Amino acid sequence: MNGEREIHHGVEFENPIGTPVLAAAAGTVVFAGDDSGGGLSPWPNFYGQAVVIEHHPAGWEQPLFTLYGHLSEMNVWEGEPVQVGQVIGAVGMSGSADGPHLHFEVRVGENTYASSRNPELWLTPRGGFGSLAGRLTTPTGENIPALPVNILPLNSDFPPLYLQTYEAGEALSTASLEENFAVWNLPAGRYRMEFIANGLHRLEITIHPGERTFVTP
Ligand SMILES: [Zn+2]
Repeated sequence: MNGEREIHHGVEFENPIGTPVLAAAAGTVVFAGDDSGGGLSPWPNFYGQAVVIEHHPAGWEQPLFTLYGHLSEMNVWEGEPVQVGQVIGAVGMSGSADGPHLHFEVRVGENTYASSRNPELWLTPRGGFGSLAGRLTTPTGENIPALPVNILPLNSDFPPLYLQTYEAGEALSTASLEENFAVWNLPAGRYRMEFIANGLHRLEITIHPGERTFVTP
């Protein structure tokens, strides 16, 4: 936007207005309402009508939160328990949205904007798709921030992806992985990954269906 690449804390699922939105996992609704007063982000009415669900997955010490923004309808109330797959609302374009889509966000530990993580690694890839994540570092092991990374398909007509690593100071990575880039929805197949850090790096990677490929060149 305005020539800047600014971090977006969620992923967008473009769908027609009214498409049902389902709970990603079982939990309890902790927010269901209008974001016009702010509180969910640093800006008022960023998410429009939004639902936040708190989850306590087995084996996790911290709660997880999933956020569903820009809804046209909400079907749940604060305090209501929900099951995985339950319809909690419908796709809309309320709040700061250019068109109808679901904004989906994952927050770890507490329900704050600063606690959001890259949601791409929290989503199960669709059939025939796999995910890619990695950590690009300097020779001394420091994460390289805001580094452009090209992912070029070698045996499919899937469009090339132009990513960049997380910016410095962004706590977006999944703690157990410490990745600094990730993408969840690549068709299985071969890709060439390119980036420039101390010279041009080109490596071939394979994405397997239903699996995550982790790259640490
Ligand atoms: Zn969004």
